[in-house]
Amino acid sequence: MDLIYRFDPYQPLSARKVESPNDASQLLSEGNKLFVSIADRLREHFQGMADHREAPLIVPFDPMTFGISMVEGIAAKHSPFALVLGCSDARAPIELIFQQTCNDLFVIRVAGNVLGVECLGSIEYAVTQLAESLKLVVVLGHTNCGAVTAAVDLYLDPNDYADLGLTHSLRSLVDRIMIAVRGSAKALERAGGPTVVHSPGYRAALLEISIYLNAALTAFDLRRELQSLGDDHGIEVVYGVFDIMTQRVRSRPGGIAKDDGASSFGSAPIEVDDFERLGADLVRSVVARGILFRAPIG
Ligand SMILES: [Zn+2]
Repeated sequence: MDLIYRFDPYQPLSARKVESPNDASQLLSEGNKLFVSIADRLREHFQGMADHREAPLIVPFDPMTFGISMVEGIAAKHSPFALVLGCSDARAPIELIFQQTCNDLFVIRVAGNVLGVECLGSIEYAVTQLAESLKLVVVLGHTNCGAVTAAVDLYLDPNDYADLGLTHSLRSLVDRIMIAVRGSAKALERAGGPTVVHSPGYRAALLEISIYLNAALTAFDLRRELQSLGDDHGIEVVYGVFDIMTQRVRSRPGGIAKDDGASSFGSAPIEVDDFERLGADLVRSVVARGILFRAPIG
């Protein structure tokens, strides 16, 4: 299988124009769709199911969106159209997930995609100084997140707190995620009653719901922070979760079928009721897919 990033020197170079949050969201969704198709093709080749005569997949390469200057002595203009706050997990590389280049995205990566004060400083800088190009802020969680898993395990067995509690930096990460874990546990209890904790798949269900709620909660905080700046420059805040098994970004978990829904983001929640609705939706999803009733593997 050939994947070719192609630069055509005969094509005119022009700065990408992204006019609205909707344009930005659409570009990211289309980029993710391309990444999903690359991953699917790779899997087909690995499984020996691919047509070896297929045409190569050609992705246009534009030096300007890469931030590479074409004129000596003049730096390329800093012009990202979206800011993405994602996790540091090496399996969740932001630019690849959205098939965008370096100067398209202002990327902040921190374990568990939590919002610390330094992150906020970077975001505030981007929103105020790059307002001409920046249209969208995305909080991107991912499945199988180690930071959220640590928070879930600590919630389920608080006696393990000593391992994390002795390290201030790790503790502060887990503490920030814990509110999403508690909200997820509450949503599961509301739907299944107090005995839901004895379900064989309770830990897996709690983890999945927490990953989505944690991304939504960070987006909720970010929206409020941007509003407190006085002028949010019309930038919208959304959240999504990157599924490291299917490579797809979604605001709600999907099934395992290839064509199971398009890539999508969810709007940052506005009020507490939005969390309750999201929690209830996520519980319905883990119940529908049998996660709650499935015994853990191993
Ligand atoms: Zn992670």
